[in-house]
Amino acid sequence: MKRHFLFPLLLLFTTGLLFSSDPAFAQKELNRISIAERSDGKGFVVRYHLSEMVDSVKVSQPSSDRIQLILFSPELDTLDFNSPPSTSTFNDFELFPAAEGMGVEISLSAGQYFKARSYTDQNGRDLLLALERVSSSEIDEIADASDEIDMSLYGYVNPTRNNGEDEDNTFLRLRDNMDFNVIVLDAGHGGHDPGTENRSMGLHEKDIALAVTLKVGEYIKEHIPDVEVVYTRNDDTFVPLSERGLTATRNRGDLFVSIHVNAAPNSPSAHGTETFFLGLARSESALEVMKRENSVVDLENGPGSLDLSEEELLVYELTNTGNLAISERIASMVENQFKNRAQRRSRGVKQAGLEALWHASTPAVLIELGFLSNPTEARFLNSEYGQTIMASAIFRAIRDFKLEYDKSIRNDRGNQASNE
Ligand SMILES: [Zn+2]
Repeated sequence: MKRHFLFPLLLLFTTGLLFSSDPAFAQKELNRISIAERSDGKGFVVRYHLSEMVDSVKVSQPSSDRIQLILFSPELDTLDFNSPPSTSTFNDFELFPAAEGMGVEISLSAGQYFKARSYTDQNGRDLLLALERVSSSEIDEIADASDEIDMSLYGYVNPTRNNGEDEDNTFLRLRDNMDFNVIVLDAGHGGHDPGTENRSMGLHEKDIALAVTLKVGEYIKEHIPDVEVVYTRNDDTFVPLSERGLTATRNRGDLFVSIHVNAAPNSPSAHGTETFFLGLARSESALEVMKRENSVVDLENGPGSLDLSEEELLVYELTNTGNLAISERIASMVENQFKNRAQRRSRGVKQAGLEALWHASTPAVLIELGFLSNPTEARFLNSEYGQTIMASAIFRAIRDFKLEYDKSIRNDRGNQASNE
């Protein structure tokens, strides 16, 4: 972790001011603020959608019902800013523009107490404010230790009153590799694990999943040659679940796509596609799973179990939050393709906490192509025609996402270049 002390920070935005009259100086924008409930149920993540990361940030909680935030960035534009609607937790978001950047004050409803910490999203642009529920006595302690920021004068925060709170202003670069070039394709089941079966038709999930997965891989190799395709299996072999996630981690996968077939033996009429985006389970045990799986997570840095602190776990959670946004987007693109182009019945995009897969610390989706228990759908999925339709729908979703992603990265790099 890098500490950002106030002195270099002041220098930083003073330098920014000197260059702010330069017409080539790219304007940064704060477009909107969105709020997501944390997957562990312990609070919220507030996302500040920025066109480019700000120079620095300061967070202060001078009273139990207010969170003050300063985005230090000269000429931060908020012209198209959309404030989130007020909810039972969040009353109001108020903006305070000033020369050095933008102040944002969040006012909370009575009895809603949070400890706030800021992080940089892995996309390198957005600022994340993690809000973790605390007790009323804890919020009183936090408020006592915090300085009120005079929003009209915040450029003049007195450094001597900064009581060692720098850690809260730490930016974490959660993901350096911004490319989207390695796609891990995971055909579900295999070998002695057939997955779901339709015995009367003699069909196994593992065979259909493999056939469609290999087709998706061929389409990617043919049409997006700069993308590397990695298979967790390319024949009828058994691969343990934990090994599949590790394949993604080892190969520095940018996306993990797991392909399966559904079954509902008691309702043979059930049919349609489902795509899950993978996150942590919404349960108390999520933290326990993370602790148990630590030794696996840190494979890159060598063997041995890590003793992660709550804060490090939170960072991991936030990394996942960023991945979740990507995973959710891809999942909805896949379902759109199934529905609109492949003319399948879409049962929708869903979130799942599959512990065996989450230590693929990459964005991940799990696709259920349809129901093997439905004879009509089973015939379709077992046909060359059906497999081609489904594989090309998945391919188009991946291709479209990559185009969208690469474009956003190019814009980002363009902005950075024009700042130098
Ligand atoms: Zn399966």
